[in-house]
Amino acid sequence: MITFNKIRYDKEQGQIYCGICGEVFRENTDIYISQKDFGILCEECIGKITNEQIEEFIDLFNKFGGYFGIFKPNQITLKQIVDEFFNLTSFENSADIIESNLKLRYKALLHGYTPKELVRKIKELI
Ligand SMILES: [Zn+2]
Repeated sequence: MITFNKIRYDKEQGQIYCGICGEVFRENTDIYISQKDFGILCEECIGKITNEQIEEFIDLFNKFGGYFGIFKPNQITLKQIVDEFFNLTSFENSADIIESNLKLRYKALLHGYTPKELVRKIKELI
């Protein structure tokens, strides 16, 4: 279970970005710091994303960089992301499946699609 420490942003801390949405923290806003993996989140992200998803997001962004919605969703549809994944992926062993699955979820996040939306789209297409 992921837990957070809440601190007040102070401009003395320099420019800090939310690790999920990439927004810059402003004066008199709260910063939520996860005790696991040093994830830094804004109030808005804490309010709208489940803890389980936050953990997954932080993990993927720490590993591969970027943040949620760094690319505009209209650059590529969720269907295109899923289609591309099934066209390029060969499932020869379980390590491939786990790795590919991670990349698929990461790509969807970069384009601003949540894991929930991704699962819904895959179910719709298969
Ligand atoms: Zn945020």
